[in-house]
Amino acid sequence: MARERLYLFDTTLRDGAQTNGVDFTLADKLAIASMLDDLGIDYVEGGYPGANPTDTELFGKDRGFGTTFTAFGMTRRPGRSASNDPGLAALLEAKSDAICLVAKSWDYHVKVALETTEEENLASIRESVRAAKAKGREVLLDCEHFFDGYKAKPKFALACAKAAYDEGARWVVLCDTNGGTLPDEIESIVREVVKIIPGDHVGIHAHNDTEQAVANSLAAVRAGARQIQGTLNGLGERCGNANLVSIIPTLKLKPEFAERFDIGISEAALKKLAHVSHALDERLNRAPNRHAPYVGESAFATKAGIHASAIMKDPATYEHVAPEMIGNRRKVLVSEQAGKSNVLAELERVGIKVDKDDPRIGRLLEVVKEREAIGYAYEAADASFELLARRTLAKVPNYFDVTQFDVNVEQRNNAKGQRVTVTMAVVKVKVGDDNMISAAEGNGPVNALDLALRKDLGKYQKYIAGLKLTDYRVRILNSGTEAVTRVLIESEDEQGERWTTVGVSPNIIDASFQALMDSIIFKLVKSGAPA
Ligand SMILES: [Zn+2]
Repeated sequence: MARERLYLFDTTLRDGAQTNGVDFTLADKLAIASMLDDLGIDYVEGGYPGANPTDTELFGKDRGFGTTFTAFGMTRRPGRSASNDPGLAALLEAKSDAICLVAKSWDYHVKVALETTEEENLASIRESVRAAKAKGREVLLDCEHFFDGYKAKPKFALACAKAAYDEGARWVVLCDTNGGTLPDEIESIVREVVKIIPGDHVGIHAHNDTEQAVANSLAAVRAGARQIQGTLNGLGERCGNANLVSIIPTLKLKPEFAERFDIGISEAALKKLAHVSHALDERLNRAPNRHAPYVGESAFATKAGIHASAIMKDPATYEHVAPEMIGNRRKVLVSEQAGKSNVLAELERVGIKVDKDDPRIGRLLEVVKEREAIGYAYEAADASFELLARRTLAKVPNYFDVTQFDVNVEQRNNAKGQRVTVTMAVVKVKVGDDNMISAAEGNGPVNALDLALRKDLGKYQKYIAGLKLTDYRVRILNSGTEAVTRVLIESEDEQGERWTTVGVSPNIIDASFQALMDSIIFKLVKSGAPA
């Protein structure tokens, strides 16, 4: 049986740009659009030309994407003609392959927000679609508040959708703008719509206000819709939009959809999905959600010993899909309750070959337990675990020694009489027979120490040049009689690979120092730096 084509429409750069705290530059938008293009997304909505300078510039020239690059804007305002509306004119002038127009489809909004008549709203839809078609663009109409509108006055909501379709809009997109509609309602309403407009011209645009935007999108597909709109990582205002990063693997890997539909994402592209999701977080300077379905660091992480031994025998026993399919990886957590099988699985994953009856495994397990009892968290710090394992198996060279460090924090008045806090660190390092002293100022003691430590490692400097610290998390733990500080540091290298290291001490600088050292040594090991 031939599979039907299902289209994906990404609005990260338009609706996703409404997210609190997100502000895309032109460079961000171009980089994200090209990432989406590479992935194989059919439509990429770039923004709202005319509404702000960035989007106007983005659509100021042909960007040459393979995807259908789409500009967003409003239908003509009530009481104006299509040719006499500056907003619509800017949209028609934009260099885009498609135009996505938005119009009201809820009678209440037409009356209260637009203060116009239903007939005038329908005329605005017809004339705006016609004007965009006349410019040779593919046209989509977003029916704003469609589901609430349908519940209030089905005839009018359907008339708005039908008006666009009859004028030749390629897609009529049903929007759950307030995000409160539930999957069964979405499914039954879309079933009614596709009796009037063929499903291969109907799209769904769901918001996540009841945590069901993904379920709502899939419900619409079950009912006959053939375009899904969403964003990377579910970005979007309030609770976000439908998360394409969850929808894509569901469509590709779950038989209900995979057997019925083709999407523009190849198997090879699917393997890049975890990377795409993390790359967006990186650009937004956010720590990726560890618990994100399919792509999160914990999505295929297992803790209990009994599960770990079963996973080693057959991964399918505890995994709903294979993590490699979306570019993620299996992770067996090493923790206080870890059994020997956990440690073995983790060693295998990090590529350390060791016989399963090697007595050193038992010793490693003892060390892990002892250290976790005083506050180390190896399940969160994979790189520190790997180093500990390599050290226990006597496989880490002694690259360098820090013979002394000194961190000084001073608060004083500067020459302008302003109160300032100045931090400086000095580190003495011994590499082979060379002694080096480095000093650095930082915006805090840990930052200064980090900068001084990485400033000059002699012959090892070239291996750590691309290393940077991307996240720093501190917790105070009450272990035994005294409070200790646990520091987790996330680092990244020039290839975008990330790892986490841990340090524990009653002194926060000492804990940070341990985690920083582990990170640097881990990078040297990973880069194959000679001893
Ligand atoms: Zn929206």
